[in-house]
Amino acid sequence: MPAASMRAVVYLEPGVIALRQVPIPNIESGDLLVRVRTALTCGTDVKTYKRGHPKYDPPTMFGHEFAGDIVAVGEAVTEFEPGMRVVAGNTAPCNACYYCKRGQHNLCDDLLVNLGAFAEYIRVPARLVQQNTFILPDHLSYRQAAIIEPLACVLHGQDLVQIQTGESVAIIGAGGPIGLMHTQLALHQGAAPVFAIDMNDMRLGIARQLGASRTINLKHEDPATIVREMTAGRGADVVIECAGAKAAWLSALQLVRKGGRVLWFGGLPGGTQVEIDATHVHYDEISIFGVYHLTPQTLERAFHLVGEGVIDAKALITHEVPLERLEDGLRMMMAGESLKVAVVP
Ligand SMILES: [Zn+2]
Ligand SMILES: [Zn+2]
Repeated sequence: MPAASMRAVVYLEPGVIALRQVPIPNIESGDLLVRVRTALTCGTDVKTYKRGHPKYDPPTMFGHEFAGDIVAVGEAVTEFEPGMRVVAGNTAPCNACYYCKRGQHNLCDDLLVNLGAFAEYIRVPARLVQQNTFILPDHLSYRQAAIIEPLACVLHGQDLVQIQTGESVAIIGAGGPIGLMHTQLALHQGAAPVFAIDMNDMRLGIARQLGASRTINLKHEDPATIVREMTAGRGADVVIECAGAKAAWLSALQLVRKGGRVLWFGGLPGGTQVEIDATHVHYDEISIFGVYHLTPQTLERAFHLVGEGVIDAKALITHEVPLERLEDGLRMMMAGESLKVAVVP
């Protein structure tokens, strides 16, 4: 058994996180205790660090994408044992509420949220152990596996817009980790062409390496002109916004064809109002999808897509820092100098 205390990063308030010595979590009968081997920074962590999070009540543990080694299991646990390499999701639905019964587990009224990946140890509660924890095959590294949570969100989003073979897809904010996952997944679905739109040449370079048909830097080129030129004047069949900016939400509507689908993936600050031209939506029959989080089903699919190499997780992780330098990692991500940062406690 590990010692009684551990190092962990605690979120205190917007702009303030601190490395603390805290007790190692106790586990109950259905839980696991996992030694975190790699935790990944995520856009949500950056947002929380910058402006807080509506669902966090600080001071709170921080970080939610991780993989590691089981060091202890509760007495009721039968599927897992100490020494196993595992990855777990960060939430688990109740499976009993109105939404869960209709397969909308992401909207569960009683969603259990597990935080604390930026620490030496993390408790995985029973509900997560039962439905959202996976044993890593030998060929899968901790850092590759830790990507399944955001990838599951991306899968859930693309499930809504149902990309068909040969459809054109424009991705706004394509150079971020989420955008690069959307790009890879759209290509895997047979989309062509796939337009990768971003403002950062380093990131667009990665999108190109991963197979984007045409990269567009917003600073120098007009996406609407290029997308129309390359789609016989129509616009894209599907537009995915993952920049998390109001301008990007609006620009998605300018890029989509009549009868096309728009996925507003990137969240905006609470209270943001977005004006839509009703005529455009009505006469051009545009479908707009909001999307939130993931389901156990998409998490499991994400785990297999990473294991099978369909999604190149390594390309999305550009830097590594020790736990005490997490703040540097978040700042690099904020500045667009890095994609995801692997944090090694
Ligand atoms: Zn995340
Ligand atoms: Zn539920």
